[in-house]
Amino acid sequence: MDAPRQRSLHQTAVEQFQRAAELVGIEDRYRQILSHPKNEVIVNFPVQMDDGSWQIFRGYRIQHNNVLGPYKGGIRFHPDVDLDEVSALAAWMTFKCALVGVPFGGAKGGVTIDPSAFSPRELQRVVRRFTHALGSNIGPDHDIPAPDVGTNSQMMDWIMDTFANLAGPANRHSVKGVVTGKSLATGGSIGREEATGQGVLYTLRHWCGERGERLDQLSIAVQGFGNVGAHFARLAAMAGCRITVVGDHTATVAAEKGLDIPALLEWVEVNGGVAGFAESDAGGLAETVPAETLFSTPVDVFVPAALENQITAVRAHGLRCRLVVEAANGPTTPEGEVVLEDRGIEILPDVLANAGGVVVSYFEWLQNKSAQAWSAAEVDERLRTILWDANDRVVDTMNELGCTRREAAYAVALRRLAEVYERRDIFP
Ligand code: NAD
Repeated sequence: MDAPRQRSLHQTAVEQFQRAAELVGIEDRYRQILSHPKNEVIVNFPVQMDDGSWQIFRGYRIQHNNVLGPYKGGIRFHPDVDLDEVSALAAWMTFKCALVGVPFGGAKGGVTIDPSAFSPRELQRVVRRFTHALGSNIGPDHDIPAPDVGTNSQMMDWIMDTFANLAGPANRHSVKGVVTGKSLATGGSIGREEATGQGVLYTLRHWCGERGERLDQLSIAVQGFGNVGAHFARLAAMAGCRITVVGDHTATVAAEKGLDIPALLEWVEVNGGVAGFAESDAGGLAETVPAETLFSTPVDVFVPAALENQITAVRAHGLRCRLVVEAANGPTTPEGEVVLEDRGIEILPDVLANAGGVVVSYFEWLQNKSAQAWSAAEVDERLRTILWDANDRVVDTMNELGCTRREAAYAVALRRLAEVYERRDIFP
């Protein structure tokens, strides 16, 4: 048997946009630019632990492209964070922002760390030292981080506070927009917390509308029950979907008639994962099942909302669904995608499906700039309009080019990027 090919995640990201670039005839010089991140910042910084010892951490900020606006992208805290992963995630941000038409470029950051192994005080020191080490590489008009896997609004508040203190007394308030995904108290936007999950649901709703199907007739499997997966599951259940299986890093739980999602949310809040839910009083008719069952339970829709490279060729062969909605970034390997295509299982691609987060981050940034606070209804209406338009445009492009939805999403993004490059040309 052939040894599995070691594929770089960044290479996957490049191959994805190159296929669409071929379809729409993007000039080679733009392709070359977009195949490389513009800036790669790597920092090693010391942090004191609660017991008085010191540890060195490695952090990254990869700035992929800023032709459409300031760099924008999340910060991930995970043991697997490395240059390749962050570079791929940064590139996807460029295409995501271009696709939905928010005036941002693409970036991503991260620290190689298992956040569950550190106390809140230690994590605060890691966040603050990382922010300090990044220094002027971030800024409200230059590069604007946000939450991603392993980070949350509390950490965004610490980033903002550290940056504001470094900016000096006269600039304390004007730099609020250096980071999005903050808590409401420190200048976050209503709706940011659930924005990504909400956006995933809007994209799924659009797909249903295209086919005359109804959300409340869908059964769904969800991998990952963190910010994106849990909010998506909650909103989808409220819309009448049956969430029949949920898996996270602790366990996989299932209930054929549909899991009690509000009870599962409360359980995870207290226990840190879905493990034990089925055995608890709140679990109702749920059962704990082997992890791989997640990939073989018959459902209408499979929603990966955890990490990349989850839908491999082997798992793609086993999936018993009609649609994959990529709530996570890069959850499908290229080999997995070929199998899904062969089997006629459609994919709503990550750059489209999970763009709700960056859209509401844009709203947060606008509110910080103008010292305003929008209402929940205003945020939701604007988010829905932007995502609906992006979905319409992707469907039109798919029909125009006779291509997959992923290729169409990249084609829309590339046309926007190429138009700006053509107008501005390349300096000098
Ligand atoms: P999170 O840290 O809040 O949650 C991650 C979830 O994945 C947790 O439930 C965890 O248990 C689960 N998980 C981790 N390893 C797993 C494994 N091996 N098997 C099964 N489950 C596992 O992260 P998040 O913010 O929800 O991000 C999830 C995905 O969505 C990532 O790909 C991220 O890049 C993407 N995303 C996030 C946002 C955002 O606004 N947070 C926006 C766009 C895209």
